[in-house]
Amino acid sequence: GKHTSLPITKQRMSLPVFKMRDELVQAVKNNQFLIIVGETGSGKTTQITQFLNEEGFSDNGIIGCTQPRRVAAVSVAKRVAEEVGCRLGEEVGYTIRFEEKTSSSTRIKYMTDGMLQREALLDPLMSKYSVIMLDEAHERTVATDILFALLKKAAEKRPELKVIITSATLNSTKFSEYFNDCPIINIPGKTFPVEVLYSQSPQMDYIEASLDCVMDIHINNGPGDILVFLTGQEEIDSCCEILYERVKTLGDAISELLILPVYSALPNEVQSKIFEPTPAGSRKVVFATNIAETSITIDGIYYVIDPGFAKVNTYNPRTGMEQLVVCPISQAQANQRKGRAGRTGPGKCYRLFTESAFYNEMLPNSVPDIQRQNLSNTILMLKAMGINDLLNFDFMDPPPRNLMIYALNELFNLEALDTEGFITKLGQRMSQFPMDPTLSRSLLASVTNECSDEMITIVAMLSVQNVFYRPRDKQQLSDIKKAKFHHPYGDHLTLLNVFTQWDLAGRSDQFCEVNFLHARHLKRANDVRAQLTRIFKQNHIPITKCYGDPDLIRKTLVTGFFMNAAKRDSEVGYKTILGQTMVGIHPSSALCGKDYDYVIYHSLVLTSREYMSQVTCINAEWLIECAPHFYKAVNDNSKSRKKAKIAPLHNRFSKDQNSWR
Ligand code: ADP
Ligand code: MG
Repeated sequence: GKHTSLPITKQRMSLPVFKMRDELVQAVKNNQFLIIVGETGSGKTTQITQFLNEEGFSDNGIIGCTQPRRVAAVSVAKRVAEEVGCRLGEEVGYTIRFEEKTSSSTRIKYMTDGMLQREALLDPLMSKYSVIMLDEAHERTVATDILFALLKKAAEKRPELKVIITSATLNSTKFSEYFNDCPIINIPGKTFPVEVLYSQSPQMDYIEASLDCVMDIHINNGPGDILVFLTGQEEIDSCCEILYERVKTLGDAISELLILPVYSALPNEVQSKIFEPTPAGSRKVVFATNIAETSITIDGIYYVIDPGFAKVNTYNPRTGMEQLVVCPISQAQANQRKGRAGRTGPGKCYRLFTESAFYNEMLPNSVPDIQRQNLSNTILMLKAMGINDLLNFDFMDPPPRNLMIYALNELFNLEALDTEGFITKLGQRMSQFPMDPTLSRSLLASVTNECSDEMITIVAMLSVQNVFYRPRDKQQLSDIKKAKFHHPYGDHLTLLNVFTQWDLAGRSDQFCEVNFLHARHLKRANDVRAQLTRIFKQNHIPITKCYGDPDLIRKTLVTGFFMNAAKRDSEVGYKTILGQTMVGIHPSSALCGKDYDYVIYHSLVLTSREYMSQVTCINAEWLIECAPHFYKAVNDNSKSRKKAKIAPLHNRFSKDQNSWR
């Protein structure tokens, strides 16, 4: 990347948006809504906020800019603070869940779309802001989709509010139509042609194929960095390790290959490395998740390797299961990925799928998240805002009915909604917590059960990345160390145990090192804990300790997670009570190899088979005790189990559409 070595002002001036500055500013002045379309890397995210700031748009309110991803929000805020020449959190700041870096002097604020949606709960007019830019709108996350409607509404009441929608795709007429036929500005990109090479035949193993492709480019092709799109952290880490071993065998005749991973959970220091220019005479290969598709731009990429997959969060309302599934990407996504190769010069894109697969199997555009994810969290927030008529809510693309019905049922089962579909007092309280209703329900149940101190810790630990570290070369030793924390009743109490021990050990890094724990993740859990404690205090909810009483804590968990219960079905597996699906206990669980009759789980993961992750054993009676309306007789035969499925409410909602309130 030669751009990154330019001084900042020169680099800014070289971006395509720079030439459009006046036109953009004028268009914002003249229109309440504006769509801006431009290639990734043209400077939309980092520059437009600055133009508006320079033009005085922040004199009467903050310029807010949303990002679908946490990492993008942080990394962009850092960059812009640098360009503006201030410390992060002063004139330029950011807010992501459980992390706030802003002050009273903040004029440009980057944040996740989820955070702005939360803010709208307390202030639907979003009165703090003079301009709101919904960035990366083409990603169509649930929060951005909801914000479309909320902002349209707020803008009606606040004629001075400016709303900008930016997107990397050209399919922007839909956005314009939705926002009262507002103008669209196109930023002409500075892109070079990219040659596309397809696989001759379908690849059986895209990891292996990607690695072969990297090696082939490195040995046989001219200079230029490589970007490989993979689906997740584990895959990326193991690819980096394997490639590192292979490169070692090449010898001195071949130039150096720098291997870099990029995904959301990566610490900031490692992530900034991807923006550093590649030293002369060497080549860089970046293994990235979808994050490099549009939200982060890496300069100097000449070669893109695209296996054609991404991990997608999907929800199956029939089984009530939410899963991260590896799915084929859309044509639009494939083209975005291809474009990453043509920013610095003519590039090459290796598609590890066939041309026929591209044209005949891939969807033209990806399905908006709102049409495939669990909506209970979102619907609870809308209800908490007093938006009861979901049927007539101004969705750009409405979610399918069954997803809505399912979410409404889930909220009813959690007693967040009443039989009429109105939010309850409990539901109002749940909506104060920025997390899934199952978790907020458990937190609130802990107040009655007088174990909120412990539950806050468990919820905080569930909200962060896996704290257990299992290096490839020390798997056995790390497993032994981990087992010392294991609680006989399962993973939730194990997590509590880890946090408590870490706390007792003075939260020392040495304790983490010896015990194979990620210090960073534990510190983050501690931050989350502090935030949750603050929410408790703000809402005058008492915090009480039960000194680790395992029955009390497990019962409290059941109050939130009774829908995630499973019953032992055979030697090898469990059957979920709600969806009657066969599942196993994840090998990393403290309960692996134990045989309890009933368990609850935090989530399901699909690897070689369906696994329950974060599992705790429970007494069957607790299911009936904690959710009597839901489980009439969980111990009975399968016939009555079927009856216990939420049929009555389901009928009610589907028969009479007007009761969707
Ligand atoms: P867009 O939003 O149109 O995709 P951006 O405003 O994100 O474009 O990026 C503009 C330029 O700024 C890109 O060339 C990118 O490489 C550079 N850039 C963005 N973030 C950073 C960063 N953290 N460090 C260095 N350069 C960055
Ligand atoms: Mg951007």
